[in-house]
Parts: sequence; C-alpha cells; structure tokens
Amino acid sequence: MKKILFVTSEAHPLIKTGGLADVSGSLPKALAELSQDVRIIMPNYQTIKMQNEVRYLCTLRVENRDVNILETRMPDSNVIVWLVDFAEYFIRPGNPYVDEHGNSWPDNADRFALFCRIAVEVAMNRAYLQWMPDVVHCNDWQSGLVPALLSLESNRPSSVFTIHNLAYQGLFTAESIRGLNLPGQLWNPEGLEFYNMLSFIKGGLVYADKITTVSPNYALEIQTAAYGCGLEGLLRFRKDSLIGILNGIDQDVWNPAIDPSIAKHYGQKTLKDKQHNKSELQRRFGLPEDDKVPLLGLIGRLVEQKGIDLIIDCLPEMLSMSLQFVLLGSGDKDFEQRLQNLAHVYPDKMAVAQGYDEPLAHLIEAGADIFLMPSRFEPCGLNQMYSQRYGTLPIVRNTGGLSDTVVDVLPETLANRTATGFVFNDANASSLLETVKRAVMLYSDRKAWTSVQSNAMGKDFSWLKSAEQYLALYESL
Ligand code: ADP
Repeated sequence: MKKILFVTSEAHPLIKTGGLADVSGSLPKALAELSQDVRIIMPNYQTIKMQNEVRYLCTLRVENRDVNILETRMPDSNVIVWLVDFAEYFIRPGNPYVDEHGNSWPDNADRFALFCRIAVEVAMNRAYLQWMPDVVHCNDWQSGLVPALLSLESNRPSSVFTIHNLAYQGLFTAESIRGLNLPGQLWNPEGLEFYNMLSFIKGGLVYADKITTVSPNYALEIQTAAYGCGLEGLLRFRKDSLIGILNGIDQDVWNPAIDPSIAKHYGQKTLKDKQHNKSELQRRFGLPEDDKVPLLGLIGRLVEQKGIDLIIDCLPEMLSMSLQFVLLGSGDKDFEQRLQNLAHVYPDKMAVAQGYDEPLAHLIEAGADIFLMPSRFEPCGLNQMYSQRYGTLPIVRNTGGLSDTVVDVLPETLANRTATGFVFNDANASSLLETVKRAVMLYSDRKAWTSVQSNAMGKDFSWLKSAEQYLALYESL
C-alpha cells in the first residue's frame, strides 16, 4: 500500500473551475478503491461546498504566518481532505484564482507559495499529523513549488507532477515575488527562472521525479514548439521521466441510465428514450420541438483554446443548414457577445445559456445529437468522453486527448464497429464546417447513426484503468 499526498488547488464537488477539479475528485477516490492511503491537501476557500464535518487539526507557523490545517472528507468516499486555512489569502469572494471581474488576484504568488510551503511541511511529516507520504502528487502550477522545495530536503518522499494544462504556468514578475523568500539556489534558468520571471510550473517540470500529463498524445505534443509554450526544450530534456495517462470520467455521475438531471433515463438498449431529453432541451432553450432536426450542443469555457472563434466564423453558414445549436458557457466577453448576437439573428436555430450550470450540462449531453469540441489544443478534455457515454457523437479536432479518445467515422471504422465520432485536422472554420456536414449526413442514415452511438456508449472511460497506471508509476519510483 502506498501513502499518497495529493496536492491540488480544486476538487469536485468541493470547488471546481475546470477539468482539474474533476480529476482531483475522481483519481484519489479510485486510488482509495485500489486500497491505497491517499489524502488530498487543498486551500480552504470561502466558496468551498463543505458536505461533511470539518475539524481543526493544528496550526503551523510558516514564514511568520499562522496557518491552520483542518480536516474533512470527500463526499461519497472516505478520502481525507486537509484544508489549508489562512483567511487573509483564501477567504474571499470570486473563484480560487480570479476576482468577481475575472482579474487574477494580485497576490496569487504569495497565496499559492504559502499553500506549497504548507504542503511541504505536511509531506515531511512536520505538521504533527503522524503521517508521512511515500509519494507527493502535485497538480498544475499552483502546486509547482512543492517538488522544488522538496528537492532541498533529505529523506524526502518521491514527487510526481501532473500537467493538466501547460498554457497556465503561474508566471510572476521579479518584483511581485520579492516577499516569497524562496531559497536562492532555486533561482536560476535551470530552476524556477523563466526569462527573468518566476515560473511556478517549472518547479514541477524541473524538480519532480516523474512528470505526467493527461493524455498520451498531449505528452508528445508538449515536446514541440507548437504546443510547448516555450517549455518544449525542458520537456524534451525530461522525456524519459514524462508519460501521458489518460483521464477517466466518473461513470456514476455521467451515466444516462441513472442521471438525476435529465428528463428520461436511457441506455444502449433504450436509445429511443434519448428523444425525451432532446424535446426537453429544445423546450428549455425555446427552440422548435422537432425530433428530426439534428441538434448540436457545446458546453465549456468560451476561450480561444476551445476553438470558439472557429464556431463563430462558420455559424452563419452552419445555421443555413437544417440543424439547431445550443451552447452553455462563459468566458471571453467578446465571444459571449458575438454568440448572443448570433442567437438573436437565428432565434429558431440557436440559443445560448450564459453561466455555469452543472444540471443543464447533463441535459445538453443527454439531449443533443452531436457535441462540438473544435479545440485548438486539448490536454485531455472530458466533455467528448461524457458525450460518447450519452450517445451524443462528438465532433473534435485532431489534438491532444481528443485524438486519443474519439475514433473518426470512416468506411473501415464503421465496418469494424470502432467509429465513435468525427475528427478533423486543421484549426479553421472551413474544416469544421465540412465535418459538421459529414456528421449531419450520417445523422440522416438512422441505422449507421445508431450503430456509431452504440460503439460510443460501449466504450470504457472508467477511472480504474487510469488509477492502475498511476499506481504503477508510484510503484516505479
Ligand atoms: P477545461 O478543464 O479545459 O475547462 P475539460 O473538458 O477538461 O475542459 O473540463 C471542463 C469541465 O467543466 C467539464 O466537466 C465540463 O462539463 C465543465 N463545464 C465547463 N463549462 C461549464 C458550464 N458553463 N456549465 C457547466 N459545466 C461546465
């Protein structure tokens, strides 16, 4: 049995801004099911949705600050969560990284440096918790200083750093980090320095014993200039310690046979009941109820990464076809406005829900026929896996985890029953539009469509497979 300290800045259902929370909610649980002793450490934000009892454990004095450690458990599992409680940094409105207006908190470097220092104290068993992990598993830049600081300790646990998105690096100017008091030997271009800035993520990439990322294809892509965000050289240098392990999905939460947020349950054998969800979705979005017209859906952050501009560029032509399109998301204000404008021009064909709405996300997965995910880059992506489980065929760009999880409809993949969606190569509006046409064409062939739906719904995206790979990695350390 391995003792694993899982360091993260968000975990579903306690707090979530994106895919990292899904992983942090599921992977520790799956490891616990494999009989491992895993504990999560994360900041105690004001907006955490606590469900279980919380108790005070101890107070640590670090960098002249008194920081409490609280303990709770993940809902629906016995996984222990240690909350790093420092009100001045974490008790504020907004989300973990930005204020109500979407601006990064100006003291993010101080906030997450303190979080990392506390995680190191816990990892070194200096926090009066009588527990020392074998492995410290860190995630994304917010925990990047942990492997760096640990590297200076003797008799330290092993460290693993997972890249969920290389585009977010935790870069801070030299002035903004003056108060951090980081050990001088970490400050050099082979260490935490990145063009005169402090890079939190380099703490993970340089100093962790192993680096993982969330799909095998993204692990290769980030070693190239096109996807490496300036860190491709370092990642190539560390390629023998870098592996891609595909994320799983929580197949209990994303299961159309038991999903409490959808209008009617269905499964592979009762696919016709999916129809009720389509009608409900059309009603909810005020679109004409029509079971014959293909209904396209999209859920996600409205940012350039997700290829939202490609969709906007081809929407007028797309909406001239016989189809409907519903979208749920928030993000870039310009994208939000342009999408709202288009929805006003085509009220019978397109509707937009702005905001973050978990139950509605489930209904879209269940009610849509086709799911759009034309990302420019996508470390793993979750929605394309949810879609397949719901028999909602995804249209994805050939990148990152999307390539690893969706099999394009081709004559041979139709024949050997492996096809599960539609894949296109070039990040431009015309390639996307061609692929939408290809999907709509197949939709008119009921038999072929149901056969691909059934391939998609039969795929195993469970966490167990991935958790076993992480465990093998921990054991190799
Ligand atoms: P990323 O982490 O890059 O945002 P992923 O596809 O890996 O993208 O994960 C996004 C997660 O957040 C998914 O579970 C998705 O359903 C959810 N999500 C994103 N935007 C919304 C929204 N507006 N409402 C509900 N859920 C959302």
